[in-house]
Amino acid sequence: MHTNSLYQEVILDHNRKPRNYGKLDHANHHAVGHNPLCGDRLDITLQLDNDQINNIAFQGESCAICKASASMMTTAVKGKSRADAETLIHEFRELATGKLDISQPHHLGRLTVFSGIRDLPTRVKCAILPWHTLHAALNSIASASTESTESAPPMADNA
Ligand code: ZN
Repeated sequence: MHTNSLYQEVILDHNRKPRNYGKLDHANHHAVGHNPLCGDRLDITLQLDNDQINNIAFQGESCAICKASASMMTTAVKGKSRADAETLIHEFRELATGKLDISQPHHLGRLTVFSGIRDLPTRVKCAILPWHTLHAALNSIASASTESTESAPPMADNA
């Protein structure tokens, strides 16, 4: 296994060619994320129709890890339901903080290249910020910060 070189290759690739980079003109959900520890700032716009993410884009000023994580996140959740996206958000957080047992079934696919991030405590927040911001956008919270509390905002009730 060459997890480390694969990780570096993926980070480089997504920084050279970030996927879904920009801002959607017709977004109905939006959130801004900020990681004061590193200075990462992300702006995520998405189009949610019938609880499905039909389109998503991100832009901002961030380090390579944050940018690669954001780029991979957009490709992973595009076309997915809100519930599936929330599952990925949860699993990615667990992965980045070393709580996820990747030998057990999960939905992260190639995102597991970030599994080594748990050994770099100062970069964990860089990797998590896009997911944190996506969560905020899905729940229509104007801004997210990795400094905020861990408590999840109230979920929209479709009943
Ligand atoms: Zn960063």
